[in-house]
Amino acid sequence: MKYNRRLVCLCGTPPILKISWTNDNPGRRFLGCRHYGSLFQNPCKFFDWYDPEFPRQANTVILGLLKKTNKQEKQLKCRWMLKLILGINLICNLKNHQIPHVH
Ligand SMILES: [Zn+2]
Repeated sequence: MKYNRRLVCLCGTPPILKISWTNDNPGRRFLGCRHYGSLFQNPCKFFDWYDPEFPRQANTVILGLLKKTNKQEKQLKCRWMLKLILGINLICNLKNHQIPHVH
């Protein structure tokens, strides 16, 4: 196959997996030149999406979560995660209680 995905970028080094944080593609992974954005003299423009395009709905959710976590302090982030975990546990427990037991 002539048009296989290139695993060596134009610099001759393997590209690295990075995560995009743009509004259009938040959290989407791509392969890029490892020299890009560094002080390397002449980085190439190698770029190839690794993940398929996310549905618009998923992008909205990811952006919403990013906004939340950006605003909060580290400590608050931990509390938020804890609340989330507790919430999931609670839902699981409620579900277990709601299942009628047949004796
Ligand atoms: Zn390169």
